[in-house]
Amino acid sequence: PLPVLAVVGRPNVGKSTLVNRIIGRREAVVEDKPGVTRDRVSYPAEWGGRNFMVVDTGGWEVDARGLDARVAEQSEIAIGLADAIMFVVDATVGPTATDEKVVKLLRKSGKPVVLCANKVDGPRAEADASELWSLGLGEPYPVSALHGRGTGDLLEAAMKAL
Ligand code: GDP
Ligand code: MG
Repeated sequence: PLPVLAVVGRPNVGKSTLVNRIIGRREAVVEDKPGVTRDRVSYPAEWGGRNFMVVDTGGWEVDARGLDARVAEQSEIAIGLADAIMFVVDATVGPTATDEKVVKLLRKSGKPVVLCANKVDGPRAEADASELWSLGLGEPYPVSALHGRGTGDLLEAAMKAL
């Protein structure tokens, strides 16, 4: 079986946009608002001569338990099936309480994590990415999933982790 890279993070941080970059197609559904898609979708991917599966998570419908519980539940499942995790944070917002919850799950798993500081569309947002060192997950990779900026370095780190 191919190694699995799971992309996790709270809604709207750009996970699906990043997954489309990784697979080189627009298959993962990008939405301005969290909407109705399946909880997890796997796609075959290739980077630097390595073949792997990339798992997009999210598209959660908020249910009675609330968003935090859905994010935690689905992140835990995705982390469980992954060989390495790409944790996506919106660098323009900074770490939220929901992000911190996912960090705890990531720590508990002991699995390798690559930290994606997304929405760094230009050099002025680089400072936002540096603030994510505070999460204690190592180097934040500044990326613009939308424009493709920084995705090469991010994927290189992910391939080392996988
Ligand atoms: P997901 O819920 O984490 O899967 O996020 P999506 O990929 O659906 O993206 C949510 C919104 O953020 C969409 O409007 C995207 O176009 C936007 N977005 C994603 N990546 C970037 C980025 O690098 N820069 C900016 N400015 N917007 C982004
Ligand atoms: Mg999505």
